[in-house]
Amino acid sequence: SHMAIETDAIIIGAGPVGLFQVFELGLLEIKAHVIDSLASVGGQCVELYPDKPIYDIPAVPVCTGQELTDNLLKQIEPFGATFHLNQEVTLVEKRDDGRFNLETSAGTRFVTKTIFIAAGVGSFQPRTLKVDGIDQFDNSQLFYRVREPARFAGKNIVICGGGDSALDWALNFVGKAESVILLHRRDEFRAAPASVAKMRELCDNYEMQLIIGQVTGYEANDEGSLNGIKVTGLDGVTRRLPLDYLMVFFGLSPKLGPIAEWGLDIERKQIKVGTEKFETNVPGIFAVGDINTYPGKKKLILSGFHEAALAAFGAAPYIFPDKKIHMQYTTTSPKLHKILGVE
Ligand code: FAD
Repeated sequence: SHMAIETDAIIIGAGPVGLFQVFELGLLEIKAHVIDSLASVGGQCVELYPDKPIYDIPAVPVCTGQELTDNLLKQIEPFGATFHLNQEVTLVEKRDDGRFNLETSAGTRFVTKTIFIAAGVGSFQPRTLKVDGIDQFDNSQLFYRVREPARFAGKNIVICGGGDSALDWALNFVGKAESVILLHRRDEFRAAPASVAKMRELCDNYEMQLIIGQVTGYEANDEGSLNGIKVTGLDGVTRRLPLDYLMVFFGLSPKLGPIAEWGLDIERKQIKVGTEKFETNVPGIFAVGDINTYPGKKKLILSGFHEAALAAFGAAPYIFPDKKIHMQYTTTSPKLHKILGVE
């Protein structure tokens, strides 16, 4: 496999706190790699409430989740962090030389001196279809995200869900797939009204079909491929629906996942830290933002920002053992101006 990337710091999670951790490390001249299981940065702010206003960021009277993320990205630009998206950190282990081996689900490997866990409520995973045995078709005929749209051209596809992802993909595949059926448990949708209107128009024109019901079973052929699902309608009747591919968009739910296996002191799915450095029980591993717990913890973005600052100072001795670290003001420090590229 590939050579491991050697680095001083890895940040797990690109939510607001992970992004600001890049800034605080950057001021101390520590370069970071940032890893997130999602395809885009911003954590809960972008995944759960991109257009909702936040009113309690100090000195920012109001901004949306997306705006906060965009501003954080702008603020950390001088530090040139490397982002590794679409991959979950699966393994963290201490090495004999005191550093850590870290691996992601995409096979990216790192050797790092310090780790900052900014994993929020855990890594967001697609909610799965709860039908016994259907997981055997995962990533062959059953998909929770679309990575290669071309695969579905000319095929009979069924898309489950009533939110934006389900609607967007259904509309996208009309005219490309042989047939498109949207399957939702009720005749109400959480998606953008314009997409819902478009979907209804396409159904009226027989270009796609909407079925109200839930998947309650499946049928496989002798070769073991999925050739149909059983759909139970609101009338209680179960009907067979033939298909080539099934796509499910039931939204994302967070899971603590592999973090639970790294030898960290965890209490109720939260990582315990001290409030001086926000370091965990494993020296060199820090935890900041929603993922950590300590007496008086409040799951607020502003608390996470403070934690990121102290964690950076706490980590500096691991990276520069011989250097005395002084706090400096960004306003007046020529050194920080140089680092920020504003001299
Ligand atoms: P998150 O934003 O949760 O980001 C964590 C990231 O880590 C995620 O992107 C996740 O995919 C990634 N991750 C997790 N595990 C792994 C892994 N193993 N490998 C790779 N990546 C991983 N707070 C406020 O201060 N003010 C508000 O007004 C406010 N309003 C809110 C409204 C709503 C509807 C919600 C849901 C929350 C609100 N919050 C608000 C809370 C705020 O969003 C959180 O405190 C904040 O997002 C925490 O940031 P974080 O960076 O710690 O974690």
